[in-house]
Amino acid sequence: MIDIKNLNLKQIRDGLQNKSFKAIELTETYLNEIDKAKALNAFITVTPDKAISMAKESDNRISKNESRNLEGIPLSIKDLYCTKNVRTTAGSKILKNFIPTYESTITNNLWSDGCVMLGKLNNDEFAMGSSNETSYFGPSINPWKRKNDDMPLVPGGSSGGSAVAVSGSLSAATTATDTGGSIRQPASFTGTVGMKATYGRCSRWGVVAFASSLDQAGPITKTVVDSAIMLKSMAGYDVKDSTSIDLSVPDYETNINKNIKGKRIGIPGEYKIKGLDADIEKNWEDGISWLKSEGAEIIDISLPHTKYALPAYYIIAPAEASSNLARYDGVRYGERVHRKDLDEMYSDSRSDGFGEEVRRRILMGTYVLSAGYYDAYYLKAQKTRKLISNDFDNAFNTVDAIMTPTTPTTAFNIGKKFDDPVTMYLNDMLTVPVNMAGLPAISIPSGLDKDGLPMGLQLIGKRFGEDDLFSIGSVIEDCRGTFPNPAQWWIEK
Ligand code: GLN
Repeated sequence: MIDIKNLNLKQIRDGLQNKSFKAIELTETYLNEIDKAKALNAFITVTPDKAISMAKESDNRISKNESRNLEGIPLSIKDLYCTKNVRTTAGSKILKNFIPTYESTITNNLWSDGCVMLGKLNNDEFAMGSSNETSYFGPSINPWKRKNDDMPLVPGGSSGGSAVAVSGSLSAATTATDTGGSIRQPASFTGTVGMKATYGRCSRWGVVAFASSLDQAGPITKTVVDSAIMLKSMAGYDVKDSTSIDLSVPDYETNINKNIKGKRIGIPGEYKIKGLDADIEKNWEDGISWLKSEGAEIIDISLPHTKYALPAYYIIAPAEASSNLARYDGVRYGERVHRKDLDEMYSDSRSDGFGEEVRRRILMGTYVLSAGYYDAYYLKAQKTRKLISNDFDNAFNTVDAIMTPTTPTTAFNIGKKFDDPVTMYLNDMLTVPVNMAGLPAISIPSGLDKDGLPMGLQLIGKRFGEDDLFSIGSVIEDCRGTFPNPAQWWIEK
């Protein structure tokens, strides 16, 4: 039996190459763990047949010394990435039987590097949410629990399943997407590493669109090195995405440089928000002393428009979503409710197929784009977005990276914020500004709070400054020390 709980992606890559184990054994072990973890509801679709045939091909290549970069490594994919001939739902009822005839560029990159697909992961419907509770397939459950408290906790969202699968050791790494925080916030809630790349670094082609000017992909992994390995394979220019950037992808893994002497780290005063947990604030201070002790220079900075990021996001993201979701009309994609009248068919298909949060966003989006309100809301939000982006540009004249907490609180109980959208939206206060500016950012597990729940520190980088984030992130990881795995309560004894 392979002890996958204590293996990260790099160790798996090495183990496969040294022939310590075979891809098929590894894949079967993961499939078995996935089967035992139904209580976590991390997967919408498991693809055992595909996994086994891909693993066999990998073993074959390894034995002939024809390994590709990530040969035989089992992964799972957020169900927002289209996978050819494998159901892709985006967590929505309207796509519950959608089988794409094409493969997203990112997953194609991963398969071309030899990865093995275990299945498709749960997420908030169309990636709208911060708790995975808007998924049509039910919430995914956080592997972590509070000390002496059995209440199930949310894993964060929208990439909840992606975070749960890594935290619960059901996959060494997963893909995720981040429009306002959906990689970093669930990573922070589950003690995993979540990296959102620079806008344009990874192709969005074949990834179900939420808000196209904000959406960006990235991996969730156990370690920073694993994140670097994954991003190298996922990233790259793609002619099929006009917003992807034609810039060569660095070898992030070998570029990791733990000598951060003289690196200038910015601490934005505006991120000390009301409602920041005391333990999280303390953890931020720990992070500052770790980096200082490694020779970094800590510089207080100001990002004055921070408080406008969230309200502006909740105009821009729904506006773009309302346009992107217009394609689900019961005709070209997705489920149809049959009606004699055409208009009724459209409206009943959409009201039956979309959940409440998605409908709320469509309503907000069409409202802010409507002729009478466009200037007052949408245009204003776009101008605000520019100011937020300028704040970061100014800061990066004096610092190399910015460090903040990832989230104001740790994981909360299932149901606690579900009926209060505004409270739910506040989860993304510290992550949303990064998307507005298109910058890269990573969340690194940085400690446990008084209840024993994971906390995360966020590092924000310059455009295409992922290398710096991996380097500084590795230092945080070293200073922090070994991070525990959650107790496997979901496995019945
Ligand atoms: N929670 C935010 C929202 O609901 C961000 C989601 C995301 O990044 N996909 O819009």
